[in-house]
This record gives sequence, C-alpha cells and structure tokens, in this order.
Amino acid sequence: MATAGKVIKCKAAVAWEPNKPLVIEEIEVAPPQANEVRIKIVATGVCHTDLYHLFEGMHKEGFPVVLGHEGAGIVESIGPGVTEFKPGDKVIPLFISQCRECRFCKSPKTNQCVKGWAADRYDVMALEETRLTCKGKKLLQFLGTSTFSEYTVLNQIAVAKIDPAAPLDKVCLLGCGVCTGFGAAVNTAQVEPGSTCAVFGLGAVGLAAVMGCKFAGAKRIIAVDINPEKFEKAKVFGATEFVNPKDHSRPISQVLAEMTEGGVDYSLECVGNVAVMRSALESCVKGWGVSVLVGWTDLHDFAARPIQLIAGRTWKGTLFGGFKSKDGVPEMVKAYLDRKVKLDEFITHNMTLDRVNDAIELMKHGQCIRTVLSVSQP
Ligand code: NAD
Ligand code: ZN
Repeated sequence: MATAGKVIKCKAAVAWEPNKPLVIEEIEVAPPQANEVRIKIVATGVCHTDLYHLFEGMHKEGFPVVLGHEGAGIVESIGPGVTEFKPGDKVIPLFISQCRECRFCKSPKTNQCVKGWAADRYDVMALEETRLTCKGKKLLQFLGTSTFSEYTVLNQIAVAKIDPAAPLDKVCLLGCGVCTGFGAAVNTAQVEPGSTCAVFGLGAVGLAAVMGCKFAGAKRIIAVDINPEKFEKAKVFGATEFVNPKDHSRPISQVLAEMTEGGVDYSLECVGNVAVMRSALESCVKGWGVSVLVGWTDLHDFAARPIQLIAGRTWKGTLFGGFKSKDGVPEMVKAYLDRKVKLDEFITHNMTLDRVNDAIELMKHGQCIRTVLSVSQP
C-alpha cells in the first residue's frame, strides 16, 4: 500500500481531559514497529467502559487518550517480524492479548496474558508506549486499542484475524461487549442446562449474558434492570421473566428467592455497581449458587457477609468473558456467520465517528444498547 512505512495523518476522536466531550482531531499514526500491525478501523461500538474512563474513573494521568476498544478493521501494513498478518486481512483489535508463551497463556484456567496494557499501565487503563500523536502530544491508547481513530497500531499478540466474509460493522461488537457477556455465562459461570439464572443490567454486556445463558440451556432467565425499556429487548435474547428493582420495596435478592424457591443457580452482575454486586451474590441459592462480576469498577470496595460464601456460594469475576482472545474471537465470528449467536439485534443506532459524543450521550441516558460508529470506508 502507498501508505506503508509512512506516518499516516487521519481523523480520531481525542479525549483531552476527563469529563469533557471528545474532540475530532487530525492525528498522526506512526508506522508499525517490530511485531506490530497498523489497522484501518472500519467500525467501532461504544461500550460503557469507554464512559467509565471518561466520567467515572477519571484518572488524570490517563489523558489525553483515544478511547474505543470494540472495533474491527483491515490490516493496512505490518512491521518487521509479523508473519501471521498481511495487508488486507480483516481483524479485530483485542484489549486482552494472547502471547501463547506466558504462564497465563499456557494455563487453560485463564485468559489473562501478562503482556499488553494491563502489565504496562493498569492504573490508567492504557498502553504507555503509543504510536498516536496530536499537536506534538503523545496520545495514550485506551486498553491498548484506540478504535475511535481511522488508524491504530497494535502488537500482533493483541490482534485476531477473522473470516473475510465477516461484516465489520457487526462483528466489531465481538471486540468487547458480546464476547464479555456471552463468555461470562458460558465460560466463567459455566451455566448448566435446565438451570435458573438472573442477569443484572441489560446493556449489551447483560443482554449477551442472557444470550449465553440461553445458549447453555438455562430454563429460566430472569432479567433485572431499573430501566423497564430494556425488557422487550431482553426477550429477544431469551429472557423468560423480568424484575425491576424499583417496583419492589424489599431487597431484590428476597424477590428472586421467592420466585425461585430459595435463589437462582447463577447470577451475573453486568452493571459495574458494588451494591448490585452484593445483591447478585445474595440472589444465588445456598449450597451451589455461582455469582459472576462482569461490570467494571475499580472505585469502591465491595462488601458481603462471610456466611454467604460459607453457605456454599461461589463469587467470581470475568475479564472478556474468559475467552482466550486470539482463539475465541474468530470462533465467535464463525458462530455469528453460522447464525448460532446474534449480533445485529444489539445494534440500536448507526452513526459516523464525527457523532461520537451523541453516541456517548445516548449510552449515558440509557437510550441505546449499542451504537456502531462507522469510522472509515472499507
Ligand atoms: P450499559 O450502560 O449499556 O448497561 C448497563 C445497564 O445496567 C443499563 O441497562 C442500566 O439501566 C442498568 N442498571 C444500572 N443500574 C442498575 C441497577 N441498580 N440494577 C439493575 N440494573 C441497573 O453498559 P454495558 O456496555 O452493557 O456495560 C456493562 C458493564 O460491563 C459496565 O460496567 C462495563 O464497564 C462492564 N464491562 C466489563 C467487561 C469485562 O471484561 N469484565 C467488559 C466490557 C464491559
Ligand atoms: Zn468494553
């Protein structure tokens, strides 16, 4: 390609500081270095974790940054040592790497590869070393990915090659939300056929968890959200019952216990709120109930009574739904192409990157499930 080896000037949405709208800027994207791949981003979803960094976490050292971590695109050029990718390949950037060599990659028990942004600057949720600059300033790469940009650069251990038939404006959702929720049910909770599940929070992550519970054969899937407008959508993914905590004066765990003869087999927290995490745990049946933390927060401690666990409940968390990223994402793309998992139904809005602030506002006010931004023409 004509751009290989050169700095590319392109458009990106830059978060200069916390709590402020993103600014569409012309940025420079350096050529890929050893083992790196430069990707033309075609489409990206907006996930609550982007909003978390901008409005909730607000770690000052984590700015300026290019947000976005749920994207899909096409390889533009490759750096020395890259053998797995070539220009033109369809790819999904990964916020969890899979180097296949570290202690964690070698264990089947986890997907938490030690390389990548998490080892680098976990505190600011970004990769310190970045190929993006604007007006002479270094721009951090949020979760190592930065998909709110026409071009970005990732190490090949954090890129998944996908089926050339995959529509990028749909499969981008597999870069975060859908794999996270689906995997939380299937891989982390390991929901069993015939079981009863409760999913707290019905954004894309929670709806994907509902879809995962159904895929695993759950008999009852109770969808819990304070926004009743989410209930219709939950039905599409397999929810069988709905509970709005605002309709009850009793704790939601009591309501669920009454509905299920003592509690659900599995509960999944997809909100990112420590009080909801506790309710989700307390909604599980004693003896064998499993509760999974999927929602993201690093701001508060959580609390629970030890007796909850002594009585036989298990409390666990999940990052990216437990999927080994390079292996799992292409499999999920295939599952979508084979119509075994839904993606189109998550998308409530389509916009261009210029309107990223509108997309953020929609999510802030609970008015969308996923907005997919078209970033550049394929
Ligand atoms: P979203 O904002 O679209 O959805 C959140 C939902 O929770 C909304 O429907 C909202 O009405 C509901 N909610 C809020 N308060 C509630 C309460 N008290 N009880 C019940 N429901 C409540 O967000 P999303 O993009 O679906 O992301 C959900 C969470 O998952 C976020 O915390 C995000 O950061 C996190 N996340 C985690 C991972 C991971 O790897 N663990 C990956 C992606 C996202
Ligand atoms: Zn996300």
